[in-house]
Amino acid sequence: NAIFKSDIEIALSSEMKNIKEIAEAIGIGEDGIELYGNYKAKLSFEMLEKLKIKKDGKLILVTSINPTKAGEGKSTVTVGLGDALNKIGKKAMIAMREPSLGPVMGLKGGATGGGYSQVLPMDEINLHFTGDIHAITTANNALAAMIDNHLQQGNELSIDPRKITWKRVLDMNDRALRQVVVGLGGPSNGIPREDGFDITVASEIMAILCLAEDIADLKVRLARMVIAYDYQQKPVTVGDLGAEGALTLLLRDAVKPNLVQTIEHTPALIHGGPFANIAHGCNSVIATKAALKLADYVVTESGFGADLGAEKFLHIKTRSAGIKPEAVVIVATIRALKMHGGLHKEELVKEDLAALQNGFENLRKHIETINEFGLPFVVALNRFSADSSLEIALFEKLCNEEGIPFALTEVWEKGGNGGIGLAEKLLEEIANNTKTFQTLYSLSDPVEQKIMTVAQKVYGASNVEFSSEAKKQLLQFEKEGWSQLPVCMAKTQYSLSDDPSKLGRPEDFTIKVRSLKPSIGAGFIVVLTGDIMTMPGLPKKPAAMNMDVDDSGKAIGLF
Ligand code: ADP
Repeated sequence: NAIFKSDIEIALSSEMKNIKEIAEAIGIGEDGIELYGNYKAKLSFEMLEKLKIKKDGKLILVTSINPTKAGEGKSTVTVGLGDALNKIGKKAMIAMREPSLGPVMGLKGGATGGGYSQVLPMDEINLHFTGDIHAITTANNALAAMIDNHLQQGNELSIDPRKITWKRVLDMNDRALRQVVVGLGGPSNGIPREDGFDITVASEIMAILCLAEDIADLKVRLARMVIAYDYQQKPVTVGDLGAEGALTLLLRDAVKPNLVQTIEHTPALIHGGPFANIAHGCNSVIATKAALKLADYVVTESGFGADLGAEKFLHIKTRSAGIKPEAVVIVATIRALKMHGGLHKEELVKEDLAALQNGFENLRKHIETINEFGLPFVVALNRFSADSSLEIALFEKLCNEEGIPFALTEVWEKGGNGGIGLAEKLLEEIANNTKTFQTLYSLSDPVEQKIMTVAQKVYGASNVEFSSEAKKQLLQFEKEGWSQLPVCMAKTQYSLSDDPSKLGRPEDFTIKVRSLKPSIGAGFIVVLTGDIMTMPGLPKKPAAMNMDVDDSGKAIGLF
């Protein structure tokens, strides 16, 4: 594979157009954007307002099989499909999430696509971009500081320091901060209490930024957030503390979507970035809706596999925003399917038809799920150079036997040209669709039932087990009137079950619910399953170890 350039090499050798030109191509003049240098801009509030009267384009949701350490290339396919749609004469845009520095420095790599299907400037987007995530970190921690100060200044709201649920955040994988004690050092340093850090992308503020309709809605949602319980067990909110004005002010610019471009100059809105394993996993509603007004086709991505990102997109984002996708793309790779079929990462280069056939079960489950939602789909086989022709032939045979629409996709190597087959197949599926989109649970179902439905219909679990803490919380949430909210499952991305080691299509398993967290501002109940953590750790050899910058300021080793 030595002949291939790295993502950063390809990105840095690509020519970008001035962002004003990209904006102009979608009908936005200079007065509609706020420039962040020559290649990044935010859409102004006035522009967003003006767009509201325009007709909506069609939304395409990209999801995948359960990710493996082999990498699936969902972002790569999202970008390549947008480029391909433009190539065949459609007016297409892309709406994606902003990368978090946690995985950038850790394991996964960036979130800007790969090969010849990337959004640019990839180094800036993967590092600090336009500062949105930093603004969220700051708003989150300003609130934490105000809560501790409230305790220090007499605690008028009678907040029980042992029941403060609001945590501090950092956009980094830093396991050492999962549990900390704050306020040590005597009376002038605050009230000592146990605290902890989450990664910024798990902050409820990130979820709110991604679900809010506009700045007014953002403020209302921030005010609703539950931050603690008082000595009478009553929830205390940001509104009780009177902090929503300051928090909204800190987020004033972060709430505007960021406009960038792909290598082939397809306009892309990149905005908001909750993870799909510990949060709801979709870019902002504001960006998706703006893109729908600006293009005839919008390709958007939800995080991790269809069991996480797509489920939450379809149950949370569609309801909150009043939008729905016209079709779904399910990304799969021969490599990842072979891992689901039992191979280790080191064995993936060798041809193994039996492993591929076994691993195909994982894809089959996700297809069943998308069918349950009543959405047309195409499976995109993201081709890697090591895939053998016999493996590809077997994949095609398995799809053809079951009438599964699929397209071989080579966007990583060829950019938009490698995705034309996928784009055409997708348009065909949209044109011929006779199904109707439906959610799998209704909001009036009890919370327990909603969790059971997702576990059984989406994960294929036989049962759900609730810890005694979770059972108590279910009763309490019912009393508070929170039962009508959708659930936001926090589960490992690697398996359909809550055990990351169970690849393929596990059967007869039980999902263990550890505890629940009310995200009343975002408008969902977070359900923590298995051992999932809201502050990840770095791996043994973090990606950061490969990174450097030369004396001229050029990024090196950013994937
Ligand atoms: P995901 O969105 O599923 O996490 P990405 O699109 O971010 O995956 O891709 C992860 C990494 O895999 C990137 O570095 C990308 O360059 C690489 N990649 C994706 N598709 C291919 C491919 N077909 N061949 C080789 N590398 C690929």
